[in-house]
Amino acid sequence: MSFTSLGLAPGIVRALDALGYQSPTPIQERAIPLVLEGRDLLAGAQTGTGKTAAFALPLIQRLSATPARPLSRTPRALILTPTRELALQVHENLREYARHARVSSTVIFGGVGMGPQTEALRRGVDVLVATPGRLIDHVEQRHLDLSRIEVLVLDEADRMLDMGFLPAIRRILAMLPTQGRQTLLFSATFAQEIKDIAHRFMRDPAEVQV
Ligand code: AMP
Repeated sequence: MSFTSLGLAPGIVRALDALGYQSPTPIQERAIPLVLEGRDLLAGAQTGTGKTAAFALPLIQRLSATPARPLSRTPRALILTPTRELALQVHENLREYARHARVSSTVIFGGVGMGPQTEALRRGVDVLVATPGRLIDHVEQRHLDLSRIEVLVLDEADRMLDMGFLPAIRRILAMLPTQGRQTLLFSATFAQEIKDIAHRFMRDPAEVQV
């Protein structure tokens, strides 16, 4: 199986070649075609399986294929992660995968000053990688408009719930558009709360498990 046969565009495949990725991992093989079709996705995958590329590659392709409205600076995709380490890692991977695409990203997390993050948001960005608490801080201070989000990714959803982020996630979900939004949820385990989120906020999700 090749990345091209999963439906990924040449620019993305070239970026993967440069990183030495020779073939897709099982989660990538199953998830990428579904996400490219526009389906919502409930994915059971541990860290280390290649789950980041499973959501990031089709996300980059979707945003590249449909350019932002002129002068629109509001983010089109939001990736929520439990920790700053994971946020940074996802952001770094996105940059590598998008090196031949016109898709910008930035990362925001707590424990550091708001200023540089606020400035990055003001300049405008396509993909925002964030931890839930700091994201809400920026929304409350009106640094951020979430009304144009087309794709939401909940990465390591079980860890976010373990860390007490359920109220924050519910608040964020309530601010996002529902029409036409694609939602991807990755989790190692599926407790009832995760199923509840899926049921309430996702549209007929496809399910994959590795
Ligand atoms: P993740 O599960 O997303 O944290 O990925 C685990 C590691 O595998 C990361 O270092 C990725 O860069 C790497 N990786 C992801 N997909 C592939 C692939 N198809 N081939 C080789 N390495 C990969």
